[in-house]
Amino acid sequence: MSNERLELQCKLLNETVGKRNLYDGYNCEKCKNKGQIFYIRGQEVVARLCSCTSTRKNIALVNKSGLKELLEKKRFDNFLETENWQRAIKERAKLFIDNGEYKTFFIGGQCGSGKTHVCVAMCGELLKKGAPTLYMLWTRDARALKAVSMEREFYERIQEYINVRVLYIDDFLKVMKGTSPTPADMNIAFEILNSRLLDPEKITVISSEFTIDELLKIDEGTASRICENAGPFVINIGKCVEKNRRMKG
Ligand SMILES: [Zn+2]
Repeated sequence: MSNERLELQCKLLNETVGKRNLYDGYNCEKCKNKGQIFYIRGQEVVARLCSCTSTRKNIALVNKSGLKELLEKKRFDNFLETENWQRAIKERAKLFIDNGEYKTFFIGGQCGSGKTHVCVAMCGELLKKGAPTLYMLWTRDARALKAVSMEREFYERIQEYINVRVLYIDDFLKVMKGTSPTPADMNIAFEILNSRLLDPEKITVISSEFTIDELLKIDEGTASRICENAGPFVINIGKCVEKNRRMKG
């Protein structure tokens, strides 16, 4: 084929419009949403993957994580850090991501102290690194699991939480005011955490209104396993009224 014809063929291929944006809403001018870029190598037209491929993979991961809306609002760069203890939390969370040696992160204690914020920000960083991540809101998702009466279906559904590379459990073991976690709650916690915490490939991020000491009283087995695995990444926020005051004045 003559060079001119090769160039024409290449140009036509590159001008063809693809449909990948219809799946993820991401528009790429470079490949016109085909995911491929054509070029001439020797005497033929060949294709390479467009750089938007990794962006699209990331969008798919975010969509699947259940964290999409939270990720838009809760990032490291907008984490409130006016107090020393807030700065300390953020530093520890960033260290956990950068260091990578420990696979379990626990933050417990007083509500309204930015626990969810810092954990979501961590998930955002892990997603950027390409790690499949899943958000488990205990009050919603554990209840859904408890509602499954068939044992087989229960084990099928719980596998999702056991197997995903990164799991963030928000409001771990939270129950209605005035009640305590039931044996069914403890069973779900055990099923999910027991095998995850033994697997060095899996990262588990947990936030809870309970401090680790309170958890030890509720479910010693699971809580002590969290302690062992998280090492320096167990953070307890003391019950201090100041910390929960959203308005200062
Ligand atoms: Zn592209």
